[in-house]
Amino acid sequence: MTNKKPNESCALCGQPVEIKGFTLPTNDGENKFCCAGCLSIYQLLKNINNITIIDKPPDNEDKHQ
Ligand SMILES: [Zn+2]
Repeated sequence: MTNKKPNESCALCGQPVEIKGFTLPTNDGENKFCCAGCLSIYQLLKNINNITIIDKPPDNEDKHQ
C-alpha cells in the first residue's frame, strides 16, 4: 500500500484528495474534491456564475406591432 501515487488536489481548497468518490464531471475532464463540502460549494459557485449572465439591462424595447 505504499504506491508513489501523486496526490490529486481538491479543485476548491487545494488540499490533497485522500478519499476518492468526490468528483464532478466537467467539459475538461473531472474535478476532484477532498470532501463532500467542497464539492457542493463548488457546484453552488458554478450555478451562481451561470446565473450572473443576466445582468444586461434591457435597452429601449423595440415595440414591434
Ligand atoms: Zn477541499
